[in-house]
Amino acid sequence: MNTDLRAIAAQIPEPIHAVCRALRAAGFEAHLVGGAIRDLFIGRAAHDFDIATSAHPHQVTQVFGRRRTIPTGEKHGTVTVLVDAGGERIGVEVTTFRGEGAYSDGRRPDSVAFVSDLVEDLRRRDFTVNAIAFDPAEDRSGGVVSDPFGGLADLVARRLRAVGEAGDRFAEDGLRVMRAVRLAAQLDFHLDAATEAAIPGAIPVFRKVSMERVRGEILKLLAAPRPSVGLRLMQSSGLLAEVIPELTEGIGLRQNRFHAHDVFEHTLATVDETSGGPIVRLGALLHDVAKPRTVAPKEDAPGENSFFRHEQVGAEMAEAIGRRLKLANRDRERVVALVAHHMFWYSPEWTDATVRRFINRVGLELIPDLFAVRAGDVRGRGFGEEAGREIDELQRRIDAEVLKASALKITDLAVRGADVMRVLACRPGPVIGEVLRRLLERVIEEPSLNATESLEALIPVVAEEAALAPAR
Ligand code: ATP
Ligand code: MG
Repeated sequence: MNTDLRAIAAQIPEPIHAVCRALRAAGFEAHLVGGAIRDLFIGRAAHDFDIATSAHPHQVTQVFGRRRTIPTGEKHGTVTVLVDAGGERIGVEVTTFRGEGAYSDGRRPDSVAFVSDLVEDLRRRDFTVNAIAFDPAEDRSGGVVSDPFGGLADLVARRLRAVGEAGDRFAEDGLRVMRAVRLAAQLDFHLDAATEAAIPGAIPVFRKVSMERVRGEILKLLAAPRPSVGLRLMQSSGLLAEVIPELTEGIGLRQNRFHAHDVFEHTLATVDETSGGPIVRLGALLHDVAKPRTVAPKEDAPGENSFFRHEQVGAEMAEAIGRRLKLANRDRERVVALVAHHMFWYSPEWTDATVRRFINRVGLELIPDLFAVRAGDVRGRGFGEEAGREIDELQRRIDAEVLKASALKITDLAVRGADVMRVLACRPGPVIGEVLRRLLERVIEEPSLNATESLEALIPVVAEEAALAPAR
């Protein structure tokens, strides 16, 4: 905990200070509120400074002028003030003190009422640690902290506690239960007992929240240092069963001698141990999602299980889950590919052509993320193993193939579809793609073939093969 107010004031960027000063000079109150202040007190990097003010939106616009303000959410009291920060223009959200509006649908307040009292504004915030305000002194020598709900004490105890009655607060806005588990993971805090106990009862309200907003929280949760903190809370509170029930099927599912954990625990450990952004972590979260649906006893090892083709079944499940979460297409495809390809087994006997086939199958672009999931997967087995050596070696061999500029995908070939049509004197059709695929297979085997002349000579040969071979 950082309780030196001078040090805290010093970390607030000058342009933010300037906005507070201007509002104060015009006779209004201005306080820093929300996540940034919370983060400064616990020594976390703060971003997105929000300012709460007694000025109404039109007054904020008057103070800074139309050219420096954007009426972002004027109805909700928010005006974005544009400030210069190191030659760059950044927006600072300035929001009029608001009281609690009525929520009839559990999604958005029906109305917001502007109030003149800071404490009323803090009262409508979700958690005590998010309901701390800081009014920085003009000269940055310190400032005044307003903490009517005991947020500082909760920061010390590393505890997330609802402002007021948790059940009521969760019933007003169904997103708050997801914010609770997300913030717990992000901050590595525990939930206050009453707050935690109120989550299951709020699930009917949670169901009304749009998937886009839920997805936003899940991705933030997955970006936390240890997502398992939030995932465990999602599981115990019933939220996981609402969003990704497939994952709960792995609870208590035994694996085999290669794993210390059941499928669910292994999944959580893998996510924590996978480094990278939230999309790679989502790939890690879903990598073994099909194990419960593909489990079969190992014939040669009593008491052990195998999970034949779980990566293929898992890729289909990941596709459905990605659609349910309304992921962007690119992100969904990436997650699906990570699940589909996570079961490769490198050994030094791989030939260079095997390495090239691997690159072609997985796609060069996915490889760093796939290796990150593999590193997490191996650590997640729970025996202190590392993926290290074999992955490093495969990486070196991949780099060597890329440097040799071997053809690794269709567009690397020295001929194009037009050449195939000319040589075969045929029209566009599926056979063109099939011929190119077969040419690539040959070139992956033998890179020296990748020259226009050799490939043109091969076109009739592979075209004949394609015509003879059963359609793939
Ligand atoms: P982050 O670090 O992700 O920005 P944050 O706590 O700042 O976390 P924001 O969404 O930026 O989250 O919200 C800013 C502040 O607004 C919060 O700290 C909280 O005081 C309040 N707030 C945000 N969402 C809600 C909500 N659903 N219900 C009540 N208060 C909320
Ligand atoms: Mg914020």
